[in-house]
Amino acid sequence: MARALAALAGREFDVLVVGGGITGAVTAWDAAQRGLSVALLERGDFGGATSAESLKVVHGGVRYLQHLDVVRVRESSRERRALLRMAPHLVHPMPFVVPTYGHGMRGPEILAAAFILLNALTADRNRGLTDPSRRVPAAGIVGRARGQLELDLGHRFRLGSDSWLLVDGSLAESPAWATDPRTIGVSKSHATLPFEGDDLDRYLRLPLGYRSSIFAPQTRSVAPVHAWALRLWDWETKDLFHGLVRVEVSPANGVPATADLISRRLLAERVPISTPDPRWDRLLYGIHSVEQYLRARAGALA
Ligand SMILES: Cc1cc2nc3c(=O)[nH]c(=O)nc-3n(C[C@H](O)[C@H](O)[C@H](O)COP(=O)(O)OP(=O)(O)OC[C@H]3O[C@@H](n4cnc5c(N)ncnc54)[C@H](O)[C@@H]3O)c2cc1C
Repeated sequence: MARALAALAGREFDVLVVGGGITGAVTAWDAAQRGLSVALLERGDFGGATSAESLKVVHGGVRYLQHLDVVRVRESSRERRALLRMAPHLVHPMPFVVPTYGHGMRGPEILAAAFILLNALTADRNRGLTDPSRRVPAAGIVGRARGQLELDLGHRFRLGSDSWLLVDGSLAESPAWATDPRTIGVSKSHATLPFEGDDLDRYLRLPLGYRSSIFAPQTRSVAPVHAWALRLWDWETKDLFHGLVRVEVSPANGVPATADLISRRLLAERVPISTPDPRWDRLLYGIHSVEQYLRARAGALA
């Protein structure tokens, strides 16, 4: 790092900022934007302390809820909205699942109440965000009933038919699906990426209608599957995950000929759906119908 202490000592500044982490950098940037002359003093390296450890999550204020710090919840939600609008290449909605334990402070009842409060406090979290894929959905409880309903429905279908079964999500969650040669999983999430370096670059920059090579995903799966990525919609001018799904099949189907056939069928099923789902670009027509059905049934079971 170049040090210019003599230059600092030789002139007078309007503002002196001590500390070159994110707080200092933004303070210096803001002051300079206002036409002030600014000096930034850092004893180590810029961004080398706490800011280097950040998980880079724009959390929107959920962490302040535990102290009922309503002002900071609102402020963080507002900032997240501004960043989603101003920096579409850097800030993307990212789903999180938080496990619950027992029935006390860490139980589902308290979390459900906290989510009601959070959703009310951040009701304007998407104001001005017109792109559905950039809107932040309301927080909610994922019930076991819903997951079980999906599995039961799939198993019942297989008992009565040997047609192709399309699952919205990972096949690796169910050993029965992961070994079924006529079941396909279409996953919208890319929480773990299967390649590194140039291979990852090629994977993420797949052109419209192309698929990646076949790989075996390393996840917390209960059963091994084969997978590939498929680009359903053009991502140029959007983000790299736009229109990108991960297709999973049983290892018996993990050969290029089947992958090509299945990919062609999935591409034929993709339709622009006018729905508020933030990930519409990764939905297939069939999945959308099943999703509506399951939401209605799961609602009735709750
Ligand atoms: C593990 C972890 C994960 C996190 N994840 C997130 C996240 O996902 N999202 C989020 O919003 N926040 C996150 N945070 C919080 C966030 O990283 C911090 O709030 C933020 O980085 C603090 O920035 P800062 O500039 O105030 O401090 P720092 O980054 O620590 O910067 C302070 C700087 O001041 C310098 N300095 C100190 N004393 C002097 C001195 N006398 N003279 C000159 N220089 C000096 C230090 O060398 C340092 O570079 C996380 C924090 C941690 C620890």
